Amino acid sequence: DQDEIAVLNTARFIFRYPKSRVASGFSQQYSLVSRLGKGHFATVWLCVEKSTGQRYAVKVFDKPAGSEDKARTEGLQQEIAVLMGVSHPHVLCLKDTFNESSHVYIVLELAPEGELFNYIVKASKLSEDESRKLFKQLFDGIKYMHDRNIVHRDIKPENILLVDSDLTVKLADFGLAKIIGEESFTTTLCGTPSYVAPEILSDSRHRRYTKAVDVWSLGVVLYICLCGFPPFSDELYDPKHYPYTLTQQIRSGRFNYPSPYWDSVGDLALDLIDSMLVVDPARRYTIDQCLAHPWMQQKPTGVNDSTDGLVGGIAGLDVQTRRGIKRERTLI
Ligand code: ADP
Ligand code: MG
Repeated sequence: DQDEIAVLNTARFIFRYPKSRVASGFSQQYSLVSRLGKGHFATVWLCVEKSTGQRYAVKVFDKPAGSEDKARTEGLQQEIAVLMGVSHPHVLCLKDTFNESSHVYIVLELAPEGELFNYIVKASKLSEDESRKLFKQLFDGIKYMHDRNIVHRDIKPENILLVDSDLTVKLADFGLAKIIGEESFTTTLCGTPSYVAPEILSDSRHRRYTKAVDVWSLGVVLYICLCGFPPFSDELYDPKHYPYTLTQQIRSGRFNYPSPYWDSVGDLALDLIDSMLVVDPARRYTIDQCLAHPWMQQKPTGVNDSTDGLVGGIAGLDVQTRRGIKRERTLI
């Protein structure tokens, strides 16, 4: 009868034009507002949910055309799978996903204040009190992930997002995250050069690493917060005075706390960084040890030691003149 024909026609329409049906999903429910950022594979937009007026961020991926993009598709699936299974105040929350003909959309909680990267660049560095407040949240978030055997593998200031003007942060970008067992390891060379742990840089036959890689990256970020420049850097390389490439610096764990930049930072903070930037992952602090470190237990001093203009301002006084941080791409 008529009804049956209508159903059949609809089915045929869907079958013949599957794209037009699914393509309405995201854009039916959300409108794009403006671009928030662009990473390696994705473009991130501010969007508004039409039914509620609520603002979100949406990570939009062009769908890989060829089979050579298998790694990328797997990364995307991994990111969605990881985010779907977690819920923590300091891990960016997943709202929705759409898998459409030419794009994949990942709708995320909005972090209105943007990247920690820009915050550090603007402030030039953070005080110990600010850094402690920040790292309490980061350690809590990563502990939550590590307790569930999820390793992030790309912790850096570009992937830590601020939700308010009071240094409340969320861990973002689980594009490289991986689920690994308690004692198990993984072997892929990936991450971002300045933040990557030494065991990831060892040659492929011997490469094995665990959750400890996240503690290393967090150690690099803590160092950066307290002084405004990175502990390991290509810019330090100097054939005459400092003949160590970035890889050599990291694999040997060779870094220092140059004066005058570190003069006002307390010994406990340095002790925590020293315990995180340990080349041997078996001797490196675990996330639980980081949380229990005496520096984390210190009461805020109220001292604002984040004196502006120090970095680069005393050029020539120090053997190593240090520059601030620069944005870095993730290597896959
Ligand atoms: P990629 O894997 O491409 O690096 P990210 O998830 O890191 O993707 O997002 C890229 C950039 O987009 C981030 O560094 C940040 O500037 C911005 N961004 C991502 N998610 C959000 C969000 N939820 N709120 C605000 N900005 C975001
Ligand atoms: Mg990123």
